[in-house]
Amino acid sequence: MEAEQDSRLKDALGNLHRAGKIAHVDPEVLKVLSSPKESLITAVPVRMDSGKLEVFRGYRVRWNDARGPTKGGIRFHPSVCLDEVSALAFWMTFKCAVADIPFGGAKGGVACNPRQLSPSELERLSRSYGRSISLVIGPDRDIPAPDVYTNTRIMGWIMEEYEHTHGGIRQPAVITGKAVAQGGSPGRDDATARGAYYLIKEMETSTHRELLSGANGPITVAIHGFGNAGQHIARLLAHDRKYRVVAVCDSRTGVFCREGVDVDRCVEVKAETGALDAERVGHGATSLEPTALLLLSVDLLVPAAIENVIHSENVGQIKARLIVELANGPVSPEADRALASRNVDVIPDILANSGGVIVSYYEWVQSRTGQWWSAEQVHERLQAKMVHAYRALFELLQRIRASPTGTASAETDGALGALTFRDAAYVLSLQRIAAAIQATGGSA
Ligand code: GLU
Repeated sequence: MEAEQDSRLKDALGNLHRAGKIAHVDPEVLKVLSSPKESLITAVPVRMDSGKLEVFRGYRVRWNDARGPTKGGIRFHPSVCLDEVSALAFWMTFKCAVADIPFGGAKGGVACNPRQLSPSELERLSRSYGRSISLVIGPDRDIPAPDVYTNTRIMGWIMEEYEHTHGGIRQPAVITGKAVAQGGSPGRDDATARGAYYLIKEMETSTHRELLSGANGPITVAIHGFGNAGQHIARLLAHDRKYRVVAVCDSRTGVFCREGVDVDRCVEVKAETGALDAERVGHGATSLEPTALLLLSVDLLVPAAIENVIHSENVGQIKARLIVELANGPVSPEADRALASRNVDVIPDILANSGGVIVSYYEWVQSRTGQWWSAEQVHERLQAKMVHAYRALFELLQRIRASPTGTASAETDGALGALTFRDAAYVLSLQRIAAAIQATGGSA
């Protein structure tokens, strides 16, 4: 598993080359997409409350901007390193193309443990990092957003630092996921989860009618991760009578209840104490290990935390019938192949969690044009976008499975094994990015 974690970028590039083979994409396009456009590694000095100076390491990687300014979140986490940020920037490039929004992909982060920082240390760290990246970002260049352990306040601090370094001119379009009061968009907060929810509702009536019919009782769900995305998807599904959320967990502990976890209580407990706790949640809940949650026998498993939680060592014990990747990269390539050979559908991250960046796009549009949309307007557009992306992807999946002209031949099909929703997502996005690269010849 460790080896898998050390090669996130290599794994990510594996998807590119596989899609290139399936769709016979020009090798020059693959060459352009195999390395980042720009990678910044920067010192992030912070005066700690103790009076001591700490120097953290920050990153911002812009993978490709053929389709528009680069876009992607900023994460504060101990695991942040160049390999991880690069893989995440790569994924953003393809995510924006699957969603068909006019952005390339980027990602940033600081290697730190935000749980060990005081509120004022967190502010100084965010501002210091904001100053370090302020020459790289910009409303038409690279637009950050929240990711793991970052939030609206942090976005506000980074926006202010950018504005200070650029003559004090207000530039709300330089960042998304900022507070609504500062020009953020209604509906951005739960957008990642809501996008996945709309997708699941679409699957109910189309491709996964049988599994998601609810005819034999509620559809059981386990959710791994209880940050922004995990909490919101848990709420949306728990309030939908067709679904029963039987387990949720954060990075330390889980809460299980066969009759359905009281998700609203879990959110309260997490807000009050910073952690989940089965005893406090009550209503028949028992505790379980996060690693055990992944192995529960449920209809739907939603990994909503970090990368590589389903890997070669636990994939054999995964019993879920459908996996929707709300996290980025939660299934390792080895595990992905194993699930495909068992016909367990995995709805890939670059589609399933694209609701966040789609609403970021709506926020950017509003910030640039001085408009304020209502939550209803945002939800309506998000739903239409998710449904459209899913239909286009499924249509393509059927086409590549049938192998008509222009996609893989019978021989390469054999070598590639079963073609999956992930393959279709990469082919769809790669074709769109390739068209943008080829429009100018790729050497701009
Ligand atoms: N961090 C989110 C993601 O991984 C959102 C990125 C954005 O809105 O730019 O998709």
